Amino acid sequence: MQFIDLAAQQKRIRGRIEAGFKRILDHGQYILGPEIREIEDELAAFVGVPYAVSVASGTDALLMPLLTEKMGPGDAVFVPTFTFIASAGAIALTGATPVFVDIDPETFNIDPADLEAAIQRTIAAKKLTPKGIMPVDLFGQPANYRAIQAIAGKYRLFVLEDAAQSFGASQDGRKAGALAKVAGTSFFPAKPLGGYGDGGMIFTADKALYEELLSIRVHGQGADKYTNVRVGINGRMDSLQAAVLLAKMEIFPEEIELRQEVAGRYDRLLGGAVKTPRILPGNISAWAQYSVLHPRRDAVIARLREAGIPTAVYYPIPLHLQRAFAHLGYQRGDFPVAEKIAGEILSLPMHPYLDEECQKRIAAPIENI
Ligand SMILES: *Cc1c(COP(=O)(O)O)cnc(C)c1O
Repeated sequence: MQFIDLAAQQKRIRGRIEAGFKRILDHGQYILGPEIREIEDELAAFVGVPYAVSVASGTDALLMPLLTEKMGPGDAVFVPTFTFIASAGAIALTGATPVFVDIDPETFNIDPADLEAAIQRTIAAKKLTPKGIMPVDLFGQPANYRAIQAIAGKYRLFVLEDAAQSFGASQDGRKAGALAKVAGTSFFPAKPLGGYGDGGMIFTADKALYEELLSIRVHGQGADKYTNVRVGINGRMDSLQAAVLLAKMEIFPEEIELRQEVAGRYDRLLGGAVKTPRILPGNISAWAQYSVLHPRRDAVIARLREAGIPTAVYYPIPLHLQRAFAHLGYQRGDFPVAEKIAGEILSLPMHPYLDEECQKRIAAPIENI
């Protein structure tokens, strides 16, 4: 059994992917070819925002908006401690300081009450200037944007949605990627919409921000290639990745539906044995992961491994306890919810093509632990 079955998906669209690759081999525009504009237009329409900028990775999709907001030394950007390293890494790369926030024990997303407390502590300490919030839509479920936007408005902070895991999700009828001023997603192969390599995309309704992102993507270029008006990066996505994404988009809405069915079956099969995920009213998750809690997590993993079933732990160490951020001076006990969940969480195989028979085989060894 596989954790994510990309082969089953490829079988459905192999012909379209090969035709897309052939088109690129024929026209030869490997960088910023016509497929790039096509996928940007398609995904902007899907998300429901006017502008999309494809980039080289999800990490660049977070870093570049922080650069446009001129984040730097002395600035504080609030981010949950329970996320992939890239969320806080992008903040630190600009010279700004990631200020960690605890999570909600039910959704694993940033806890709005703890967010406001962290903002007030930062203001009182007078060392850093609060500038932004980076909520993360963990495991595919949008964070609590109603509460977050209210706090952002109160303290005049900009909001960058880390939608790396939530492409295809929605909240109150609005798609992930459209829940903040600017959002970044990832096309790493294991994400809900994955390429066959690295890639990402930035979404915004702000035209000036969009134009700045286009410039930053190509070394801060001005009117032409060799006029540089700011310092940027090489943040481009390959035409070949766009061809993969265009093929995958033909079945993506159906796959999001299938993921709901898989998650619903897990909920029923696992209800008594582990703590199953809670999706807030108004949210539809993209189900990047199906993550459950069990006080004897390692025993559950061992039992599943014996049965030939792969699992993963996202994430075993919250970011405030990572050596990369040791200089920030956090200690064990600072974020009790995240620390407890890091010790109890595990993710089960999750993809649109997981059938009931497989899910029963996954549930069986867990039942009596
Ligand atoms: C995957 C991921 C990223 C980074 O995306 P890459 O494409 O791997 O650079 C950022 N944030 C979160 C929450 C992620 O899961």
